Amino acid sequence: MKRRLGAFFLSCLLFGGFADAGGPLRVTGAGATNAGQPFVWDVSNPIRYTVDGGPLSVSPSGQIVSSNSQGVARVQSLFQNWQSVPTTSITYSYAGQISGAGIPSNGDVKTIQDFNAALGLCNGGTQSPVIFDADGSLLRALGLSPLIIGFSGTCKLDYQAGHIVSALVFLNGEFQDGVNDPTTSNYELTADQFDEAITHEMGHFSGLGHSQINLDLFKSGFAGNCPVDELAGLPIMFPVEFCQSRKSAGLPILAPDDVAWISKLCPHATFASNYGTISGFVFFSDGITHVQGLNVIARQVDDPSTPQDESKRVAVSVVSGFEFTGNPGQAITGDNTGGSQYGSRNPALIGYYEIPVTSGTYTVQTENVDSSFVGGSSVGPLDPPAITYGAYEYWHQYESAFDNPAQKDALTVQAGQKLSNINFILNQTPPRFDQFEDGEVRLESPPTPFLLRDPRELWPLVRLS
Ligand SMILES: [Zn+2]
Repeated sequence: MKRRLGAFFLSCLLFGGFADAGGPLRVTGAGATNAGQPFVWDVSNPIRYTVDGGPLSVSPSGQIVSSNSQGVARVQSLFQNWQSVPTTSITYSYAGQISGAGIPSNGDVKTIQDFNAALGLCNGGTQSPVIFDADGSLLRALGLSPLIIGFSGTCKLDYQAGHIVSALVFLNGEFQDGVNDPTTSNYELTADQFDEAITHEMGHFSGLGHSQINLDLFKSGFAGNCPVDELAGLPIMFPVEFCQSRKSAGLPILAPDDVAWISKLCPHATFASNYGTISGFVFFSDGITHVQGLNVIARQVDDPSTPQDESKRVAVSVVSGFEFTGNPGQAITGDNTGGSQYGSRNPALIGYYEIPVTSGTYTVQTENVDSSFVGGSSVGPLDPPAITYGAYEYWHQYESAFDNPAQKDALTVQAGQKLSNINFILNQTPPRFDQFEDGEVRLESPPTPFLLRDPRELWPLVRLS
Protein backbone atom coordinates (compact mmCIF):
# COMPACT_ATOMS: atom_id res chain seq x y z
CA MET A 1 0.00 0.00 0.00
CA LYS A 2 1.24 3.41 -0.85
CA ARG A 3 2.16 5.31 2.23
CA ARG A 4 0.25 8.46 2.81
CA LEU A 5 3.09 10.89 2.68
CA GLY A 6 0.67 13.76 2.97
CA ALA A 7 0.16 13.15 6.63
CA PHE A 8 3.56 14.73 7.26
CA PHE A 9 3.35 17.64 4.96
CA LEU A 10 2.14 20.69 6.78
CA SER A 11 3.85 21.04 10.07
CA CYS A 12 3.78 24.54 11.27
CA LEU A 13 6.14 25.73 13.92
CA LEU A 14 4.91 28.58 15.95
CA PHE A 15 7.42 30.86 17.52
CA GLY A 16 7.18 31.81 21.13
CA GLY A 17 4.32 30.02 22.69
CA PHE A 18 1.06 28.25 22.34
CA ALA A 19 -1.12 28.00 19.31
CA ASP A 20 -4.52 29.30 20.16
CA ALA A 21 -7.85 28.71 18.49
CA GLY A 22 -9.33 27.27 15.28
CA GLY A 23 -10.12 30.55 13.61
CA PRO A 24 -7.54 32.94 15.00
CA LEU A 25 -4.02 31.70 15.63
CA ARG A 26 -3.74 33.49 18.94
CA VAL A 27 -5.95 35.65 21.11
CA THR A 28 -5.03 38.44 23.47
CA GLY A 29 -4.45 37.83 27.16
CA ALA A 30 -4.13 39.62 30.46
CA GLY A 31 -1.86 42.38 29.11
CA ALA A 32 -4.34 43.52 26.49
CA THR A 33 -6.77 46.39 26.48
CA ASN A 34 -9.37 43.85 25.34
CA ALA A 35 -8.57 40.26 26.35
CA GLY A 36 -9.87 37.39 24.26
CA GLN A 37 -9.56 39.14 20.89
CA PRO A 38 -7.69 37.61 17.95
CA PHE A 39 -4.22 38.98 17.25
CA VAL A 40 -4.52 40.72 13.89
CA TRP A 41 -2.41 42.96 11.70
CA ASP A 42 -3.08 46.66 11.61
CA VAL A 43 -4.49 46.68 8.10
CA SER A 44 -4.67 50.44 7.63
CA ASN A 45 -1.54 49.97 5.49
CA PRO A 46 -0.38 46.95 3.46
CA ILE A 47 1.63 44.36 5.37
CA ARG A 48 5.20 44.75 4.13
CA TYR A 49 7.11 41.49 3.69
CA THR A 50 10.68 40.90 2.51
CA VAL A 51 11.80 37.86 0.52
CA ASP A 52 14.93 35.71 0.44
CA GLY A 53 17.46 36.74 -2.22
CA GLY A 54 18.28 33.16 -3.24
CA PRO A 55 16.50 30.71 -5.51
CA LEU A 56 13.26 29.07 -4.37
CA SER A 57 14.46 25.63 -5.37
CA VAL A 58 17.66 23.94 -6.53
CA SER A 59 18.20 20.30 -7.49
CA PRO A 60 20.52 17.99 -5.49
CA SER A 61 23.18 18.63 -8.17
CA GLY A 62 22.90 22.36 -7.62
CA GLN A 63 20.88 23.32 -10.70
CA ILE A 64 18.40 26.15 -10.19
CA VAL A 65 14.91 24.71 -10.65
CA SER A 66 12.97 27.78 -9.51
CA SER A 67 14.83 31.08 -9.58
CA ASN A 68 14.63 33.93 -7.13
CA SER A 69 12.50 36.05 -9.44
CA GLN A 70 10.17 33.10 -10.01
CA GLY A 71 9.97 32.58 -6.25
CA VAL A 72 9.25 36.25 -5.55
CA ALA A 73 6.55 36.32 -8.23
CA ARG A 74 5.02 33.17 -6.78
CA VAL A 75 4.98 34.57 -3.24
CA GLN A 76 3.35 37.76 -4.50
CA SER A 77 0.65 35.91 -6.39
CA LEU A 78 -0.07 33.59 -3.45
CA PHE A 79 -0.46 36.44 -0.96
CA GLN A 80 -3.00 37.67 -3.48
CA ASN A 81 -5.15 34.60 -2.69
CA TRP A 82 -5.91 36.11 0.69
CA GLN A 83 -5.92 39.73 -0.38
CA SER A 84 -8.47 39.13 -3.13
CA VAL A 85 -11.17 37.84 -0.76
CA PRO A 86 -13.77 40.59 -1.28
CA THR A 87 -14.91 40.72 2.36
CA THR A 88 -11.44 41.22 3.91
CA SER A 89 -9.36 44.37 4.09
CA ILE A 90 -6.01 42.59 4.46
CA THR A 91 -3.38 43.66 1.91
CA TYR A 92 0.29 42.82 1.43
CA SER A 93 3.19 44.56 -0.21
CA TYR A 94 6.59 43.24 -1.35
CA ALA A 95 9.25 45.33 0.38
CA GLY A 96 12.35 43.94 -1.36
CA GLN A 97 15.00 41.46 -0.31
CA ILE A 98 15.62 40.46 3.27
CA SER A 99 18.36 42.79 4.49
CA GLY A 100 19.90 43.89 7.74
CA ALA A 101 22.48 42.92 10.33
CA GLY A 102 23.86 39.43 9.73
CA ILE A 103 22.10 38.87 6.40
CA PRO A 104 24.38 38.21 3.38
CA SER A 105 24.47 41.14 0.96
CA ASN A 106 22.69 39.08 -1.71
CA GLY A 107 19.85 38.39 0.74
CA ASP A 108 20.24 34.62 0.41
CA VAL A 109 19.39 33.00 3.74
CA LYS A 110 21.21 29.65 3.67
CA THR A 111 22.86 28.90 7.00
CA ILE A 112 21.68 28.72 10.59
CA GLN A 113 23.51 32.01 11.22
CA ASP A 114 21.59 33.61 8.34
CA PHE A 115 18.34 32.18 9.64
CA ASN A 116 18.98 33.46 13.15
CA ALA A 117 19.74 36.90 11.74
CA ALA A 118 16.46 36.87 9.80
CA LEU A 119 14.57 35.65 12.85
CA GLY A 120 16.24 38.40 14.88
CA LEU A 121 15.04 41.04 12.43
CA CYS A 122 11.57 39.52 12.63
CA ASN A 123 11.56 39.38 16.43
CA GLY A 124 12.71 42.99 16.48
CA GLY A 125 9.62 43.86 14.48
CA THR A 126 11.51 45.48 11.63
CA GLN A 127 10.99 42.81 8.96
CA SER A 128 8.55 40.07 8.02
CA PRO A 129 10.75 37.72 5.99
CA VAL A 130 9.78 34.96 3.56
CA ILE A 131 12.70 32.50 3.57
CA PHE A 132 13.49 30.09 0.73
CA ASP A 133 15.30 26.91 1.75
CA ALA A 134 16.18 25.93 -1.80
CA ASP A 135 17.39 22.37 -1.12
CA GLY A 136 15.98 21.63 2.34
CA SER A 137 19.44 21.82 3.93
CA LEU A 138 18.55 24.70 6.24
CA LEU A 139 15.53 22.80 7.52
CA ARG A 140 17.76 19.81 8.27
CA ALA A 141 20.36 22.04 9.89
CA LEU A 142 17.64 23.39 12.13
CA GLY A 143 16.96 19.81 13.21
CA LEU A 144 13.55 19.69 11.57
CA SER A 145 12.03 16.91 9.51
CA PRO A 146 12.61 17.04 5.73
CA LEU A 147 8.90 16.16 5.43
CA ILE A 148 7.98 19.70 6.49
CA ILE A 149 6.89 21.74 3.47
CA GLY A 150 7.08 24.97 5.32
CA PHE A 151 6.37 26.71 8.56
CA SER A 152 5.40 30.13 9.70
CA GLY A 153 4.76 32.10 12.80
CA THR A 154 4.22 35.50 14.21
CA CYS A 155 7.38 37.11 15.63
CA LYS A 156 6.62 40.36 17.40
CA LEU A 157 3.24 41.00 18.91
CA ASP A 158 1.78 44.14 20.43
CA TYR A 159 0.18 42.46 23.43
CA GLN A 160 -1.74 45.50 24.53
CA ALA A 161 -3.29 46.45 21.21
CA GLY A 162 -3.62 42.83 20.06
CA HIS A 163 -1.65 43.44 16.88
CA ILE A 164 0.77 41.29 14.93
CA VAL A 165 3.81 43.49 14.27
CA SER A 166 5.91 41.00 12.29
CA ALA A 167 5.81 37.40 11.10
CA LEU A 168 7.87 34.89 9.16
CA VAL A 169 7.29 32.28 6.46
CA PHE A 170 9.76 29.47 5.71
CA LEU A 171 9.43 27.42 2.51
CA ASN A 172 11.16 24.12 1.78
CA GLY A 173 12.04 24.28 -1.93
CA GLU A 174 13.14 20.64 -1.90
CA PHE A 175 9.51 19.76 -2.59
CA GLN A 176 9.84 21.55 -5.95
CA ASP A 177 13.29 20.35 -7.06
CA GLY A 178 12.01 17.82 -9.58
CA VAL A 179 13.26 14.86 -7.56
CA ASN A 180 11.06 12.32 -5.80
CA ASP A 181 13.43 9.99 -3.95
CA PRO A 182 12.13 8.45 -0.72
CA THR A 183 15.56 6.96 0.02
CA THR A 184 16.87 10.48 0.67
CA SER A 185 13.57 11.79 2.08
CA ASN A 186 13.41 14.11 -0.91
CA TYR A 187 9.74 14.16 -1.89
CA GLU A 188 8.00 16.13 -4.56
CA LEU A 189 4.71 18.01 -4.67
CA THR A 190 2.86 19.25 -7.71
CA ALA A 191 3.18 22.99 -8.22
CA ASP A 192 -0.46 23.39 -7.19
CA GLN A 193 0.02 21.42 -3.99
CA PHE A 194 3.12 23.45 -3.12
CA ASP A 195 1.17 26.64 -3.81
CA GLU A 196 -1.46 25.41 -1.35
CA ALA A 197 1.20 24.79 1.28
CA ILE A 198 2.56 28.31 0.82
CA THR A 199 -0.95 29.73 0.98
CA HIS A 200 -1.52 27.78 4.23
CA GLU A 201 1.61 29.31 5.75
CA MET A 202 0.51 32.75 4.60
CA GLY A 203 -2.75 32.11 6.45
CA HIS A 204 -0.78 31.68 9.69
CA PHE A 205 1.32 34.72 8.79
CA SER A 206 -1.97 36.61 8.52
CA GLY A 207 -3.20 35.48 11.94
CA LEU A 208 -5.21 32.35 11.16
CA GLY A 209 -5.01 29.13 13.14
CA HIS A 210 -5.88 25.64 11.97
CA SER A 211 -9.42 24.54 11.10
CA GLN A 212 -10.91 21.06 11.24
CA ILE A 213 -13.72 20.35 8.75
CA ASN A 214 -14.52 17.12 6.88
CA LEU A 215 -12.17 15.24 9.17
CA ASP A 216 -13.59 11.93 7.90
CA LEU A 217 -11.61 12.47 4.69
CA PHE A 218 -8.39 12.47 6.70
CA LYS A 219 -9.46 9.60 8.95
CA SER A 220 -10.47 7.40 6.05
CA GLY A 221 -6.97 7.57 4.60
CA PHE A 222 -7.69 9.25 1.29
CA ALA A 223 -4.49 10.06 -0.53
CA GLY A 224 -4.74 11.77 -3.86
CA ASN A 225 -8.27 11.72 -5.11
CA CYS A 226 -10.59 12.91 -2.40
CA PRO A 227 -14.30 13.29 -3.26
CA VAL A 228 -14.76 16.81 -4.62
CA ASP A 229 -17.70 17.85 -2.42
CA GLU A 230 -15.69 17.11 0.72
CA LEU A 231 -12.50 18.57 -0.73
CA ALA A 232 -14.41 21.78 -1.46
CA GLY A 233 -15.20 22.19 2.25
CA LEU A 234 -11.74 21.14 3.46
CA PRO A 235 -10.03 24.33 4.65
CA ILE A 236 -6.63 25.31 3.31
CA MET A 237 -6.00 25.84 7.04
CA PHE A 238 -6.56 22.13 7.80
CA PRO A 239 -3.40 21.01 9.64
CA VAL A 240 -2.39 18.41 7.06
CA GLU A 241 -2.24 18.36 3.26
CA PHE A 242 -3.28 15.00 1.83
CA CYS A 243 -5.78 15.32 -1.05
CA GLN A 244 -5.21 16.24 -4.68
CA SER A 245 -4.82 19.99 -5.13
CA ARG A 246 -8.02 21.98 -4.99
CA LYS A 247 -7.11 23.61 -8.29
CA SER A 248 -6.84 20.26 -10.07
CA ALA A 249 -10.39 19.51 -8.87
CA GLY A 250 -11.64 22.81 -10.29
CA LEU A 251 -11.98 24.45 -6.87
CA PRO A 252 -10.82 27.87 -5.65
CA ILE A 253 -7.70 27.68 -3.50
CA LEU A 254 -9.56 28.91 -0.39
CA ALA A 255 -12.46 27.00 1.15
CA PRO A 256 -15.50 28.79 2.64
CA ASP A 257 -13.99 28.44 6.14
CA ASP A 258 -10.78 30.20 5.06
CA VAL A 259 -12.70 33.01 3.39
CA ALA A 260 -15.00 33.46 6.38
CA TRP A 261 -12.20 33.62 8.95
CA ILE A 262 -9.82 35.96 7.14
CA SER A 263 -12.85 38.21 6.71
CA LYS A 264 -13.84 37.92 10.35
CA LEU A 265 -10.31 38.72 11.53
CA CYS A 266 -9.69 41.54 9.05
CA PRO A 267 -13.13 42.62 7.90
CA HIS A 268 -13.78 44.85 4.94
CA ALA A 269 -16.77 47.18 5.19
CA THR A 270 -18.70 44.63 3.10
CA PHE A 271 -18.23 41.89 5.72
CA ALA A 272 -21.26 42.94 7.78
CA SER A 273 -23.51 42.99 4.73
CA ASN A 274 -22.35 39.53 3.61
CA TYR A 275 -22.00 37.55 6.84
CA GLY A 276 -24.16 36.70 9.80
CA THR A 277 -23.09 34.94 12.99
CA ILE A 278 -24.10 31.75 14.77
CA SER A 279 -22.94 31.70 18.38
CA GLY A 280 -23.59 29.90 21.62
CA PHE A 281 -22.10 27.69 24.29
CA VAL A 282 -21.17 24.05 24.65
CA PHE A 283 -22.14 22.56 28.02
CA PHE A 284 -21.50 19.29 29.77
CA SER A 285 -24.60 17.24 30.68
CA ASP A 286 -25.36 19.41 33.69
CA GLY A 287 -26.24 22.19 31.27
CA ILE A 288 -24.13 24.63 33.28
CA THR A 289 -20.47 23.70 33.01
CA HIS A 290 -18.75 24.98 29.88
CA VAL A 291 -16.80 22.67 27.57
CA GLN A 292 -13.68 24.15 26.03
CA GLY A 293 -11.90 22.63 23.06
CA LEU A 294 -14.76 21.06 21.08
CA ASN A 295 -14.81 21.70 17.37
CA VAL A 296 -18.09 23.34 16.29
CA ILE A 297 -19.08 23.29 12.61
CA ALA A 298 -21.90 25.13 10.85
CA ARG A 299 -22.82 23.34 7.64
CA GLN A 300 -25.11 24.70 4.98
CA VAL A 301 -28.12 22.44 4.43
CA ASP A 302 -27.86 20.58 1.14
CA ASP A 303 -29.85 22.05 -1.72
CA PRO A 304 -31.38 19.01 -3.45
CA SER A 305 -31.82 20.97 -6.69
CA THR A 306 -28.04 21.09 -7.27
CA PRO A 307 -25.78 18.11 -8.01
CA GLN A 308 -23.35 19.29 -5.33
CA ASP A 309 -23.69 18.51 -1.65
CA GLU A 310 -23.61 21.92 0.00
CA SER A 311 -23.50 20.36 3.46
CA LYS A 312 -19.99 19.14 2.69
CA ARG A 313 -18.95 22.12 0.58
CA VAL A 314 -20.07 25.09 2.62
CA ALA A 315 -18.94 24.73 6.21
CA VAL A 316 -17.32 27.05 8.75
CA SER A 317 -15.89 26.02 12.11
CA VAL A 318 -14.42 27.26 15.35
CA VAL A 319 -13.31 25.60 18.57
CA SER A 320 -15.37 26.23 21.71
CA GLY A 321 -13.59 28.50 24.14
CA PHE A 322 -11.45 29.92 21.34
CA GLU A 323 -11.27 33.25 23.14
CA PHE A 324 -10.43 31.65 26.49
CA THR A 325 -6.90 30.71 27.48
CA GLY A 326 -5.69 27.16 26.96
CA ASN A 327 -3.68 27.42 30.17
CA PRO A 328 -5.17 29.50 32.98
CA GLY A 329 -2.22 28.73 35.28
CA GLN A 330 -2.09 27.52 38.87
CA ALA A 331 -0.01 28.43 41.90
CA ILE A 332 0.39 24.96 43.44
CA THR A 333 3.58 23.76 41.74
CA GLY A 334 5.14 27.20 41.66
CA ASP A 335 6.10 27.07 37.98
CA ASN A 336 2.90 28.06 36.22
CA THR A 337 1.30 30.74 38.34
CA GLY A 338 0.06 32.99 35.59
CA GLY A 339 -0.36 30.35 32.88
CA SER A 340 -0.40 31.35 29.24
CA GLN A 341 0.05 34.93 28.19
CA TYR A 342 -2.69 34.32 25.63
CA GLY A 343 -6.43 34.16 25.99
CA SER A 344 -9.11 35.64 28.17
CA ARG A 345 -9.63 34.60 31.81
CA ASN A 346 -13.33 35.38 31.67
CA PRO A 347 -14.99 32.07 32.63
CA ALA A 348 -18.09 33.06 30.67
CA LEU A 349 -16.03 32.34 27.53
CA ILE A 350 -14.82 28.81 28.39
CA GLY A 351 -17.45 27.13 26.22
CA TYR A 352 -18.31 30.01 23.91
CA TYR A 353 -18.20 29.66 20.14
CA GLU A 354 -18.92 32.08 17.30
CA ILE A 355 -19.05 31.21 13.60
CA PRO A 356 -19.28 33.68 10.70
CA VAL A 357 -21.53 32.40 7.90
CA THR A 358 -22.96 33.81 4.70
CA SER A 359 -26.76 34.01 4.35
CA GLY A 360 -28.30 30.57 4.26
CA THR A 361 -29.70 27.67 6.23
CA TYR A 362 -27.31 25.72 8.43
CA THR A 363 -27.03 22.85 10.85
CA VAL A 364 -24.53 23.11 13.69
CA GLN A 365 -22.63 20.20 15.21
CA THR A 366 -19.89 19.47 17.72
CA GLU A 367 -17.04 16.98 17.56
CA ASN A 368 -13.68 16.28 19.14
CA VAL A 369 -10.54 17.76 17.65
CA ASP A 370 -8.55 14.83 16.26
CA SER A 371 -6.12 13.46 18.82
CA SER A 372 -3.27 13.50 16.28
CA PHE A 373 -3.43 17.29 15.97
CA VAL A 374 -0.84 18.29 18.53
CA GLY A 375 2.04 20.76 18.72
CA GLY A 376 2.50 22.62 15.46
CA SER A 377 -0.59 20.90 14.07
CA SER A 378 -2.87 21.80 16.97
CA VAL A 379 -6.40 23.07 16.44
CA GLY A 380 -7.93 25.42 18.97
CA PRO A 381 -6.74 26.56 22.39
CA LEU A 382 -5.93 23.13 23.88
CA ASP A 383 -2.77 21.22 22.99
CA PRO A 384 -3.03 18.27 23.12
CA PRO A 385 -6.74 18.43 22.35
CA ALA A 386 -9.16 17.41 25.07
CA ILE A 387 -11.08 14.32 24.09
CA THR A 388 -14.55 14.70 25.51
CA TYR A 389 -17.00 11.87 25.88
CA GLY A 390 -20.34 12.66 24.25
CA ALA A 391 -18.74 15.22 21.93
CA TYR A 392 -20.57 14.21 18.76
CA GLU A 393 -23.89 15.99 18.63
CA TYR A 394 -26.02 18.12 16.34
CA TRP A 395 -27.82 21.13 17.75
CA HIS A 396 -31.57 20.98 17.91
CA GLN A 397 -34.25 23.11 19.42
CA TYR A 398 -34.75 21.09 22.58
CA GLU A 399 -31.22 20.32 23.67
CA SER A 400 -30.87 18.17 26.76
CA ALA A 401 -28.48 15.60 28.21
CA PHE A 402 -30.85 12.86 27.07
CA ASP A 403 -31.65 13.81 23.49
CA ASN A 404 -30.78 12.03 20.27
CA PRO A 405 -27.40 13.45 19.22
CA ALA A 406 -28.30 12.88 15.56
CA GLN A 407 -31.43 15.00 15.77
CA LYS A 408 -30.85 18.35 14.09
CA ASP A 409 -32.77 21.55 13.48
CA ALA A 410 -31.76 23.93 10.72
CA LEU A 411 -31.08 27.60 11.40
CA THR A 412 -31.64 30.30 8.82
CA VAL A 413 -29.19 33.18 9.04
CA GLN A 414 -29.37 36.45 7.14
CA ALA A 415 -26.38 38.65 6.46
CA GLY A 416 -25.89 41.02 9.36
CA GLN A 417 -27.92 38.80 11.67
CA LYS A 418 -26.50 37.42 14.92
CA LEU A 419 -28.04 34.17 16.10
CA SER A 420 -26.97 33.71 19.71
CA ASN A 421 -27.49 31.07 22.39
CA ILE A 422 -27.40 28.19 19.96
CA ASN A 423 -26.33 26.05 22.90
CA PHE A 424 -25.30 22.41 23.06
CA ILE A 425 -25.81 20.14 26.04
CA LEU A 426 -23.69 17.05 25.61
CA ASN A 427 -25.15 13.66 26.49
CA GLN A 428 -23.94 11.42 29.28
CA THR A 429 -20.81 13.30 30.15
CA PRO A 430 -19.50 12.14 33.56
CA PRO A 431 -21.17 13.61 36.61
CA ARG A 432 -19.60 16.62 38.20
CA PHE A 433 -17.42 16.19 41.22
CA ASP A 434 -20.03 17.70 43.48
CA GLN A 435 -23.58 17.67 42.22
CA PHE A 436 -24.50 20.43 44.65
CA GLU A 437 -21.79 22.66 43.35
CA ASP A 438 -22.94 26.08 42.31
CA GLY A 439 -22.35 26.91 38.64
CA GLU A 440 -20.35 29.99 39.52
CA VAL A 441 -17.82 27.93 41.42
CA ARG A 442 -16.49 26.89 38.01
CA LEU A 443 -14.54 30.14 38.09
CA GLU A 444 -11.78 28.42 40.02
CA SER A 445 -11.93 24.96 38.51
CA PRO A 446 -11.39 24.27 34.83
CA PRO A 447 -13.27 21.20 33.58
CA THR A 448 -10.29 18.88 33.49
CA PRO A 449 -11.92 16.08 35.52
CA PHE A 450 -14.29 15.47 32.64
CA LEU A 451 -11.75 15.43 29.88
CA LEU A 452 -10.34 12.08 28.97
CA ARG A 453 -7.45 11.27 26.73
CA ASP A 454 -9.41 8.42 25.26
CA PRO A 455 -13.19 8.16 25.39
CA ARG A 456 -12.90 4.39 25.44
CA GLU A 457 -11.50 4.62 28.95
CA LEU A 458 -14.85 5.81 30.13
CA TRP A 459 -17.09 3.69 28.00
CA PRO A 460 -17.57 0.71 30.37
CA LEU A 461 -18.35 3.05 33.23
CA VAL A 462 -20.98 4.83 31.26
CA ARG A 463 -22.50 1.58 30.12
CA LEU A 464 -22.84 0.40 33.70
CA SER A 465 -24.41 3.54 35.08
ZN1 LIG B 1 -0.39 25.16 9.77
